[in-house]
Amino acid sequence: MSISAPFPPEHQNQEFLENRYSLINVGLKWTIVVLLFVTLNQFLALYFGGDTSIVNMDVAMLSVAVNLFMALTGTIVFLLNRQLHRRGGDWSRLMDLNMHVLGVVVMASWVVHVYLAGTQNTLIVMMIPGTAMVLVWIFSGRWAWFYWMASNVALTAICYLEVVGELPYSPLLVRPEGGAEIYLDIRYRLLNGGFYAVGSAMLIFYVTRLKAALESSHAETMRAKAELAVLATTDSLTGLLVRRSILPKFEEQLVRADRDGQPLCVVILDIDNFKSVNDTYGHAVGDEVIKMVAEVLRHSFREYYDLIARIGGEEYLVVLPHNDLASGRALAERARLHLNQQSVPDGQGGTIGVTASFGVAQYLPGRKTTTDALIHDADEAHYVAKRAGKDRVCVAGDDANQQSATG
Ligand code: GH3
Ligand code: MG
Ligand code: MG
Repeated sequence: MSISAPFPPEHQNQEFLENRYSLINVGLKWTIVVLLFVTLNQFLALYFGGDTSIVNMDVAMLSVAVNLFMALTGTIVFLLNRQLHRRGGDWSRLMDLNMHVLGVVVMASWVVHVYLAGTQNTLIVMMIPGTAMVLVWIFSGRWAWFYWMASNVALTAICYLEVVGELPYSPLLVRPEGGAEIYLDIRYRLLNGGFYAVGSAMLIFYVTRLKAALESSHAETMRAKAELAVLATTDSLTGLLVRRSILPKFEEQLVRADRDGQPLCVVILDIDNFKSVNDTYGHAVGDEVIKMVAEVLRHSFREYYDLIARIGGEEYLVVLPHNDLASGRALAERARLHLNQQSVPDGQGGTIGVTASFGVAQYLPGRKTTTDALIHDADEAHYVAKRAGKDRVCVAGDDANQQSATG
């Protein structure tokens, strides 16, 4: 029997979104921490780092300002996302929008920063792949590549305009005499730009793979969890509930019956002379009989509304909400007749007819009877049916138990 997930697809989708939300949360949080740390570092280096006369203060302050600006934008987006998530509803699209605003702001900040401080400023340019890696984490790989491309194109355009003299090279940088000549050599710029592009592409590739591995392992865990949930609550032979999984639902129905002021019926049924089926035709044919009875029960009762479980070898429990003893008996009788019309191949060219004995008990709202007591009553009624000759329905507390055997 194949095992299907008990959760509807929207539920799995929700799991996926929650997982994505927490990944983004972690990504943003640590990016903000790193940015603040780098900024603090810059301050410490500037004020305790010794000779500040060799530091270009304009470039240094620009760095600090850009870092703080990005940390601030990241924090705002982080808080907005958290607010959206708390409010519930369809937050994932708005969150995507937030993240793209962040992507544009961050990439544009870096490009402006790199231009002002000099496209040759290695440390600063290296932040572009760093940012791209963060973007891979936060967006899908596809969007990270998009932002990476866009920033590379922008930087290449700036370099080109610098080389052809349309833009000044690093307006903030004070260079020693003639020191910047090599920056304006087109071959040098192409080689250098190529290095950054390939280097950052490798990093993006690596982080994309890492993230995909993480996500697929998460998906695997979710699948395993769903399968385990099915195995724990479902009988593997028939797909019906098992005793452990029907009991809490049964309790729930009792509470509901009290609240709605409606009666409820419990049916216990047991296949007649099942041992002889096993003994005569073998266990495999016996299993087919058990499955066939489960199918009959599924078709005889209301899907989703009634509860059906296999609670023993060839014993079943059915809970029928909103039914009194008379209608419960009628429904059990209908199932019994359905069963009489079915047969199972005996594996030797013939077929086997199957009958069962049914016991029905009712719960009246407000009586505070336990599920155990109700199951016991229905079980007793089913024994009455067995003793009266099997293949019939008997109800609890009914001395007259009219016989319903076709026989
Ligand atoms: P009665 O009409 O009084 O109910 O008689 P019976 O033979 O049906 O009852 P009994 O309790 O003596 O036999 C039940 C048998 O069900 C015994 C056990 O070997 C068999 N059984 C229990 N679980 C399974 C199962 O999963 N598969 C098969 N093939 N047989 C099972
Ligand atoms: Mg039996
Ligand atoms: Mg039995």
